[in-house]
Amino acid sequence: MKRYFNSLAETMSADELKSLQNRRLGETLRWVLTRNDYYRKRFTALGLKQPEDFGDMEQLPELPTLNKEDFRQTYPLGMCCVGNNEIREMHMSSGSTGSPVVMPYNEADLEQWAECMARCYVMAGAVSGNPVQITPSFGLFNGGFGMYHGARKAELFVIPTGSGNTERQVRLAKDFNTKILCGVVSYTIRILEVMREMKIELPCLKIGIFGAESFSDGMRKRIELELGIESFDIYGMTETGGVGTLGMDCPAHAGIHVWEDQYLVEVLDPVTGKPLPDGQQGEIVVTSLTRQALPVIRFRTGDLSKIVSREKCDCGRTHLRIAPITGRTDDMLIIKGVNFFPKQVEHALLEIPGVLPHYQIVIEEVDGVRDVRINVEADETVTGYMVEKHLKERLGFSPKGDVFKPGELPRQDGKAQRVFYKNNNH
Ligand SMILES: [Zn+2]
Repeated sequence: MKRYFNSLAETMSADELKSLQNRRLGETLRWVLTRNDYYRKRFTALGLKQPEDFGDMEQLPELPTLNKEDFRQTYPLGMCCVGNNEIREMHMSSGSTGSPVVMPYNEADLEQWAECMARCYVMAGAVSGNPVQITPSFGLFNGGFGMYHGARKAELFVIPTGSGNTERQVRLAKDFNTKILCGVVSYTIRILEVMREMKIELPCLKIGIFGAESFSDGMRKRIELELGIESFDIYGMTETGGVGTLGMDCPAHAGIHVWEDQYLVEVLDPVTGKPLPDGQQGEIVVTSLTRQALPVIRFRTGDLSKIVSREKCDCGRTHLRIAPITGRTDDMLIIKGVNFFPKQVEHALLEIPGVLPHYQIVIEEVDGVRDVRINVEADETVTGYMVEKHLKERLGFSPKGDVFKPGELPRQDGKAQRVFYKNNNH
């Protein structure tokens, strides 16, 4: 079986990788500086006028960082480095506030995206002709098209269902022997539920590629067991060029490989912005090395993780590995002085036998004091007291726990909303 889509790139030595990164970083800096006013202004404010003023990677921490706000301020194409006649596609994510984030692609960018995504498919065990069912929507969100471009490149049989119509998803997966299911974990749980209602099993399904929302280890194990699949945690976002651009975990499941010939990764302290040593958790900051229409230089992703290893992996790949994303700098919840992420709640809930993977975290504010209520579906052996007791042990604070019968909480066709806010100020 083919182990690598691009063995030369995926297994190159650390020295080769470093010199390639240095060369590509120089090219990218020259590219943005000579083609885009917004970048030029930001960089010249730091006294860096000529591309020749840049040395190598060691100088990276001296360059200014970018964030979502830069994308919003330059909406629609103020950070684009190619002419409109070269743009072939765009994707967009809508934030909760302000203008959306737009990513334009030229021909070379689409090729780069397909390459990164094809590496992920092959890394998960896909071989030419395997049926792949793509459940994210085909539209402005990057998920559907990214998985499509990569599947074409990896020579897979694309079943482009897009989102929704879960019964049809299940029937098509059965009729066309879907081997690889792409999407988000919360929707996969919905698919599993509908499979049971329809009394359909999918013995051909072997691989799940899940992205766009962070999920706990407990959730991952449960899906693997119940669907009989091996699951992979894929990484990438609108600003880096879409799903799969940053990488995925390999069959060793010892961290997410980041395609280092395509992107540089730094981990910064989210508060001070200072670089953190390997092994320490902070904000993932990404510099693209090969993108053309809109390269990012030190983009602050808001995702929290850490570098777990730079050593060659058991799979033979040399690209560094980061831990699964713990959460986002902006979705950390602080309740009565305790910090936690929704994913930690999920992990703790799924440790309780009889609890089902459908839950809500409701943040209630009463007269300025925040409290948490957890609504969770479970079988009749589980009581609210059991949920409260377990969460107290695992999270260090006491949320209220309400147990619902299976099927009582609302279902969504895409990424599930887990956190809800309720304001009861008097
Ligand atoms: Zn590996």
